[in-house]
Amino acid sequence: MKKEKIIIIGAGLSGSLLALRLAQKGYQVEVYEARKDLRKHDISAGKSINLAFSDRGIKALTEAGIIDKVMPLCIPMKGRLIHDKDSNTFFSPYSGNGDKHINSISRGDLNAILMNEAEKLPNLKIFFETECKKVDFKKNAAHFFDHKAKKKKKVKATVIFGADGAGSALRKSMFKQREVLFSFSQQWLKHGYKELSFPAGENNSFLAEKNALHIWPRGNYMLIALPNLDGSFTVTLFLSHQDGEHSFKSLNSADKIKSFFKEQFPDAYTLMPNLVEEFQKNPVGALGTIKCSPYSYKGKTLLIGDAAHAVVPFYGQGMNASFEDVTVLFKYINKYEDDWQKIFSEYEKERKKDADAIGDLAVENFYEMRDHVANPLFKIKREIERKLEAKYPNDYASKYAMVTFNPDIGYYDAFVKGNAQDKAFLNLIEDREIDLNTPLDLVLQKVKTKTNQIIDDDKTAHLL
Ligand SMILES: Cc1cc2nc3c(=O)[nH]c(=O)nc-3n(C[C@H](O)[C@H](O)[C@H](O)COP(=O)(O)OP(=O)(O)OC[C@H]3O[C@@H](n4cnc5c(N)ncnc54)[C@H](O)[C@@H]3O)c2cc1C
Repeated sequence: MKKEKIIIIGAGLSGSLLALRLAQKGYQVEVYEARKDLRKHDISAGKSINLAFSDRGIKALTEAGIIDKVMPLCIPMKGRLIHDKDSNTFFSPYSGNGDKHINSISRGDLNAILMNEAEKLPNLKIFFETECKKVDFKKNAAHFFDHKAKKKKKVKATVIFGADGAGSALRKSMFKQREVLFSFSQQWLKHGYKELSFPAGENNSFLAEKNALHIWPRGNYMLIALPNLDGSFTVTLFLSHQDGEHSFKSLNSADKIKSFFKEQFPDAYTLMPNLVEEFQKNPVGALGTIKCSPYSYKGKTLLIGDAAHAVVPFYGQGMNASFEDVTVLFKYINKYEDDWQKIFSEYEKERKKDADAIGDLAVENFYEMRDHVANPLFKIKREIERKLEAKYPNDYASKYAMVTFNPDIGYYDAFVKGNAQDKAFLNLIEDREIDLNTPLDLVLQKVKTKTNQIIDDDKTAHLL
């Protein structure tokens, strides 16, 4: 057992996983969480109740030795089920031969498993309702307010991790105290989100297809639904805060809410008996991308998860990326044992460009999901891509597959190659060089040549 004391601010998804792994490694770990214990109190408050969990997250939880406890909570989603305005549906599998899927999982259940596993270790303790107010870099101490005891508390440690989400207190301290030249950006989308639901049918039956991520793409707005184990679906509406004909601001009466849903999402509307009540009760969440640098301060503090890189949810990767942070961090912890300065600087060198890339990919995917998935050109591209993936699983992976199913490819590389590949595909289809009848070996060769050309051109133009 090691003597070094480590503090983690935040017992959310990344904080709990990091705590578990550090305690497994023998450190003395204290976790401070602002909210009540979610295992004893319902604190979901209508916000991202379930999440898409995929291969990068699976890899991280496998390394922590807890994946067998998590997988039984997952519902596989094998592709996107797209619903048009006339209630026709179109299924687009995530992989060529249908062998790959993402998983729907409850945020609360997953967080509870992580905390339960962490608390089994004698060298780890979680303090709830203890909110970090600031971090003092000179004294290497975190200042908290204990909401139960109603008093302040100061805790010193060898290392302090900020796993305290998008509003991170550690990040704010780095920004304010000016101990480092700290760069920070936060970009909001004009769209927000609201969570709604489809209740389960009789005996917890699913009233819509269980094994799919449902999407109602409508250009300026979009509805999605993910299944829950009890037969219900968590439904999320992405809509502009106040711009355009329909917005969260303009949907201000029961009649307007009902007629908007009836007209835009008619099949979903029939599954939402509590629509108006939920719409009026649940909050509108904001969607933003946070980038910052540096993540660490002199081997004493490190930002991790959303605290370092919050992303919009359109690639279903925020949590997966936060879990992958822990995988990458442990590569360097195992290599440089206790040399935190070296660990953090190597970690940051590798992680920053990948975290920035998933931030950009997620914004791009917002437009793709909203506009393109129902677009005929996109459908042809996806159809040809699917055949390529099925026939040449070792030679071709779509951008989505690289991001979602290939943890061995970093987000940055997936971003560069995936975007060039998409551009190559669409150009070749538009120029009528390939279509649904072109032999696949020829398609593969043309797409590869064009992709490499695009990457080379971008490098020459210093765009990469
Ligand atoms: C609508 C929506 C849908 C999403 N869908 C997906 C998805 O499908 N797949 C996916 O991978 N990701 C998804 N995400 C992203 C995912 O939720 C986040 O990336 C993930 O929660 C990040 O985990 P974290 O532990 O870093 O931060 P958080 O989950 O935000 O946890 C931070 C923790 O720190 C605590 N805390 C905050 N401030 C303090 C303080 N001052 N002192 C002490 N404790 C503090 C908080 O209470 C919280 O428990 C979605 C996000 C949203 C908003």
